[in-house]
Amino acid sequence: MARSDTAGTWTVENGAGLYDLDRWGDSYFSTNSRGHVTVQPRGDRGGSIDLVDLVKGLQERDLGLPLLIRFDDILEDRLERLHAAFDRAIAHYGYVGRYQGVFPVKCNQQRHVVEQLVDSGQRWHFGLEAGSKAELLIALSLLNDPEALLICNGYKDQRYIETAILARRLGQQPVVVIEQPDEVERIIQASQVLGAAPMIGIRARLSSLSTGRWGSSVGDRAKFGLSIPELLETTETLRDAGLLGDLRLLHFHIGSQINDIAVLKDALQEAGQIYGELHRLGAPMGYLDVGGGLGIDYDGSRSATAASTNYSLQNYANDVVATVKECCEPCGVPVPTLVSESGRALASHFSVLVFDILGNGGAPDEIPVPREDDPLIVRNLHDTLGGISQGNLQEAWNDALKFKQDALSAFRLGYLRLPERARAEQLAWACARRIVKLLPQDDDMPEELHSLRASLASTYYGNFSVFRSAPDTWAIDQLFPVMPIHRLNEEPDQLGSIADLTCDSDGKLARFIEGGKSKTLLELHTPQEGEPYLLGLFLAGAYQEVMGNLHNLFGSTNAVHIRLAPGGGYRLDHVVRGDTNADVLQAMEHDPDLMLERLRLASEEAIREGRLGVSDARLLISHVSNSLQQSTYLQA
Ligand SMILES: *Cc1c(COP(=O)(O)O)cnc(C)c1O
Repeated sequence: MARSDTAGTWTVENGAGLYDLDRWGDSYFSTNSRGHVTVQPRGDRGGSIDLVDLVKGLQERDLGLPLLIRFDDILEDRLERLHAAFDRAIAHYGYVGRYQGVFPVKCNQQRHVVEQLVDSGQRWHFGLEAGSKAELLIALSLLNDPEALLICNGYKDQRYIETAILARRLGQQPVVVIEQPDEVERIIQASQVLGAAPMIGIRARLSSLSTGRWGSSVGDRAKFGLSIPELLETTETLRDAGLLGDLRLLHFHIGSQINDIAVLKDALQEAGQIYGELHRLGAPMGYLDVGGGLGIDYDGSRSATAASTNYSLQNYANDVVATVKECCEPCGVPVPTLVSESGRALASHFSVLVFDILGNGGAPDEIPVPREDDPLIVRNLHDTLGGISQGNLQEAWNDALKFKQDALSAFRLGYLRLPERARAEQLAWACARRIVKLLPQDDDMPEELHSLRASLASTYYGNFSVFRSAPDTWAIDQLFPVMPIHRLNEEPDQLGSIADLTCDSDGKLARFIEGGKSKTLLELHTPQEGEPYLLGLFLAGAYQEVMGNLHNLFGSTNAVHIRLAPGGGYRLDHVVRGDTNADVLQAMEHDPDLMLERLRLASEEAIREGRLGVSDARLLISHVSNSLQQSTYLQA
């Protein structure tokens, strides 16, 4: 555990450092003198919100925990940073083209989120990318800028393609990206039926090797994209159909969260050459779409590891611009407008999940007093505990462990009673605690003694569901920064992992960021009686909401949209109420009214038979009917 610099004085800075807040917070998250996490929704440009005060204010408005707080200013700031990075790179390399991004809707389809992005992105003609028909419908209804791109990815049937073609007549700029060889025939057919063609793109299946979680998104066996022979054949098919003049875009996507910039450079070179070749084959082209993959430094380590990236946003933009320029200019190919489909990089920072701890539990910490009638095993443990010293830690632990095992054997054989076994266990834990307290800080202790510390750790019970709010921690071992949002001016005195409300043993957070690695226990404070203990899970604005599920019927949490108010403080723009119990029951085809009615009939019968009083029956019905209308989470 991190220690204060000078014994006894723990400062907010120590607290922020312990959780690496200054490394991953990226100027959006920091701390104040009260030991609270603060949010600077506009980054360095001023304005700050005390996250704890905000949560209290929302609770006063009857918005209970867990709460998903979306900071729309952050979303806007991310957009600005992305565009500023490309603008700088374009100026720096003297690139004679421009950058025009799109938001991949699959990253966060929430209406207010997509609306906000479209609205804030208007000044750059920022567009949308759809990967399914439903996402296409979102993009069609929200985009109203004739210059913004609407990139149509994913599997496409005839109706999808025809819709895209008609959207072009509506004044939009849909680009139908051919992801599968058979889609070209459908495009030709739809174009003949409607007498108009869409703007066409081709997704290339690159051979450059990728790494990381989504490394298999490229290479010969990737799910999407055309191989080089298919790409050539498709180009010829388009030429024969008179549609080559509509081939405008080359697309590739090498997977999400690219950790290592070297991987991107290889892919860019390969794609840059393919772009030039398509141009030489007679397609007008004009756009090179480098897909998603721009990563997030979840742990602030700036390393090529899963939870990090070894490059900055600016490095990324520089490499895209410079590499494409290097590919095109020597061959006299006009440089394309650069498109990226950066989802994670735009949407991760803006939402924070805040949840409360309902309680914590761990190894028992009571020490029984010695008694006259203690059996030998218990007396031995008392002696072991009394004899622990700096010089015999390993030996003392060996003894304690042996006596604990003896106690279990004796219990199995009927020689030890339950209270005696309880005392033996309490003493064994007391030995462990005393040993851990005496363990030196250096690392050359036997592994076994170090793991003792972990075995004493507490489990903190959080009022949330991992499956609902941070499913990637469970599905793909993703790490998000998790930390208390207050008491940072107090040294944490516990190590713990976090269990959620579900009855699933996988429903826990047991891996935490630690500078390019991970750790299984998080430094936490002992919750105080009558005081909430609030934790925040950060950088989870991308993918988590839609991947989240109803496991154990925990529904969506309350969500709010917060803006920095002009005169200081905040403005509550939208409230999106979380699911009620009735909502999640209906999602499983149950009928809440019918459920209530059945219960009413059963209680009438119980009243008639004298098993239940009328007032108790009323209480039962009122609990059930209130629960149906309330959140699926626990209420304080
Ligand atoms: C998922 C996806 C994206 C978004 O990727 P990020 O890593 O979130 O930026 C972009 N393009 C395509 C084709 C995708 O499938």
